[in-house]
Amino acid sequence: MTIKQKLIHHIANPLEWSSSRKTALLLWMYLFDQLLYTAFIVLGQYHPLVAPWFDQQQAALHSYYFMLLMVTSAALLVLVHFTPPRYRNNVAIEYMGCLFFGLTHVYYGYCVGLMSLPVGVVLVGTPVVGFIFLDLWAVATAFVASLLLVVVLSTATLMEQLPYAPLLQNLYRADGQMEAIWVISYSILASPHLFFIFTLAYYVLQRWRVREQQVVALSRTDSLTGLINRRHIVELLSIEKTECESLKLPLSVVMVDLDHFKKINDGWGHDVGDRALIAAAAALRSAVRQNDHVGRYGGEEFLVVLPGLDATQARMLAERIRTTIAATVLELPNNQCLSLSASLGMSCVAVADEVTVEHLIKQADLALYRAKDSGRDQLVVAA
Ligand code: GH3
Ligand code: MG
Ligand code: MG
Repeated sequence: MTIKQKLIHHIANPLEWSSSRKTALLLWMYLFDQLLYTAFIVLGQYHPLVAPWFDQQQAALHSYYFMLLMVTSAALLVLVHFTPPRYRNNVAIEYMGCLFFGLTHVYYGYCVGLMSLPVGVVLVGTPVVGFIFLDLWAVATAFVASLLLVVVLSTATLMEQLPYAPLLQNLYRADGQMEAIWVISYSILASPHLFFIFTLAYYVLQRWRVREQQVVALSRTDSLTGLINRRHIVELLSIEKTECESLKLPLSVVMVDLDHFKKINDGWGHDVGDRALIAAAAALRSAVRQNDHVGRYGGEEFLVVLPGLDATQARMLAERIRTTIAATVLELPNNQCLSLSASLGMSCVAVADEVTVEHLIKQADLALYRAKDSGRDQLVVAA
């Protein structure tokens, strides 16, 4: 395995991760953010170029809180990593992670000003990705709680109980424009978030799309033969009928039933029966044209939809199906062989005939019964 393959294998589908693994990812990303925030406040205290822009008294106080929150994140990470297996899917872990992330982020936002770019990015971006990735109610709860905290802090600021952006000094110039240093700082503080949000959203949505395609394919496929299943072949028949009606083309339906299949099962076992079904499906596929449809209708019954062929052409194709199945030989242990055969019933609808899908299938089925009654291994076309 290459490193890339190993990585993809390890990440797998994040949507299927356990609660603790999802929360761990959130905390790892948060820890990275916090490193940046802490570097920001330390720089503000000690770098001569930026120190004059910081309220040093507040910076000294809040740097302790910054450190404390970082240690808390690390502690939570350890806790999440060592969650006993039976609690790993407990949604409470996601609630804990989301609430911690949301509420403490409001605190960080308060330090640099709640009406700022980083707060906007976190407040809007995180729930959007969170809703896809994490438990809906955990994200919603944390979002509402954080929003309430923003309202409380903003009100306290309005009532002059709390300072606005306590860490920063000289946020605005005399002409009311924001100082360039803060425009740049805000952008830097917001950037890891934007990166994480885009990366995670891209990856998760990509996996979501793949999974949706897989689910659709699974819901239409017969797992044994790989043919389309009954529901989908009937859907396709309905689509083809509408298409043929509008294009004034004929349409034929063939019901194929393997002969004496029960004897195969009884005589050779179900595994050989299954192999016979797989071989019959392959024969059917090879006998039809690219635009025809073959589906497994029931146990050993198949439905074939032949759009655009008149009765004579359809009869020739149905005969080809019959002979292809009759030519199918299954090799069995002890050098024995098993030949298959099938009976076929066909119904055709000429141009502009008004019939239902159910009627077409019923007619093909009745014709099939007649083929069985007349000795099997033959095709009967409905009148
Ligand atoms: P006829 O020629 O009249 O069609 O006889 P038949 O024995 O083929 O017809 P019948 O409907 O009595 O038997 C169909 C058998 O197909 C019964 C069922 O056990 C078997 N069957 C249905 N689905 C499967 C499957 O997925 N695997 C296997 N091995 N057997 C199946
Ligand atoms: Mg049958
Ligand atoms: Mg049968």
